[in-house]
Amino acid sequence: MFMWSRQRTTSTFLAFLRISRAQTSKEILSLTCHSSSSSSSSSSPSSCSSGLHRSVHQPLLSRLLSTPPSPSPLMELKKVLEVLEQFAPLSLAEPWDNVGLLVEPSRPRPISTILLTNDLTEAVMDEAEALTCDLIVSYHPPLFQPIKRLVQRDWKQRLAVRALEGGIAVFSPHTSWDSVRGGVNDWLVAGLGCGQVSVLSQALASGPCRFKLEFKVRNAEELQPIAEQLKKEDSKTTLTHSVNSCEAEGLVASVLCSDTALPSAVQTLLQHGVASQALAILKTEQPPLPGHGQGRLIVLDQSVTVATAVEKMKSHLGMKHLRLALGSGHTMESTVSRAAGCAGSGASVLKGVRADLYVTGEMSHHEVLDAVASGASVILSDHSNSERGFLAVVKEKLGARLPDSVTVAISKADWDPLEVV
Ligand SMILES: [Zn+2]
Repeated sequence: MFMWSRQRTTSTFLAFLRISRAQTSKEILSLTCHSSSSSSSSSSPSSCSSGLHRSVHQPLLSRLLSTPPSPSPLMELKKVLEVLEQFAPLSLAEPWDNVGLLVEPSRPRPISTILLTNDLTEAVMDEAEALTCDLIVSYHPPLFQPIKRLVQRDWKQRLAVRALEGGIAVFSPHTSWDSVRGGVNDWLVAGLGCGQVSVLSQALASGPCRFKLEFKVRNAEELQPIAEQLKKEDSKTTLTHSVNSCEAEGLVASVLCSDTALPSAVQTLLQHGVASQALAILKTEQPPLPGHGQGRLIVLDQSVTVATAVEKMKSHLGMKHLRLALGSGHTMESTVSRAAGCAGSGASVLKGVRADLYVTGEMSHHEVLDAVASGASVILSDHSNSERGFLAVVKEKLGARLPDSVTVAISKADWDPLEVV
């Protein structure tokens, strides 16, 4: 009941906002029309302004005429997706994840209302429908496992059907928001205070896996047909060569190719007999993307006690209760200067990190025991409570990048299913 009444209040409030906005638009429109009709009815702009001067305050009139307000442009879904991509490129998401546009209605419509939620539940879908929402941005992907049917007995399939029937698009950023600089994990550790932040699991530039093949040839004439054949098989394969330090030993050549072009490149080299010249195959790493990646380590500018860290995180996450496991040898007054954080279920990212404190949403009993034995205290908030507060940051950032015609709202029906009672 409480949730329902709160939802109704929010819906009414947002409906009011939308009506107010429409009225404002009409006012702007009427002013624009008035100004243009005045212009068209007079022979020159000066006569127009002198005619209006008699009835309207001059500074206000100048302002209106010099910068005629125009209605905010309507945003297509495609444009909103571009803004979301600028905010956090989907290429930053983990390879196992299912991010991006998950539900795309067949009849495109302008995006006027975006609802942000941590999880898309049926209560959140009720809210989205009540708001006549056009796009739901659900941090966790509501569709993750492959589905073979869309039927009513499965709650996630029901949600997909409701989204399609209602013409509501659904987008999920998930681990791209975790990874991006200034994303969920940066927001999480910022709750402990200011400090030097580094990434625990570094993100690498996206792109296909690349291989480097090194071999020797006697001279440039021997290299020429190899180069031609490699290029013929894959135009993106590149070949470079340098003269060996001992000129009598010939040339050292390198081929850079993608994983898909690797078998044919190796076959080409074998055909030309270069295998006998010590062919080496190396896998190359993509360059790191500084500031992006999973998990964060913060070295605090000012150390805090465990007790203070707990209070700070309660305030940051908006929670009355957190779960705490004291690290081996720690008390509530022990010093925390290095803390590692990972939103959601962070055990795999935090494992083995040297820190006074781990902050995450959930860890298993045995993972907590391991952390405690390593000397780290652990703060657990329950899974989505370590993530949801970031939606306020998203709302602000999207609001700054989207026109006024788009309302960005945070779901009121989205809560962690677990509560301390
Ligand atoms: Zn999560």
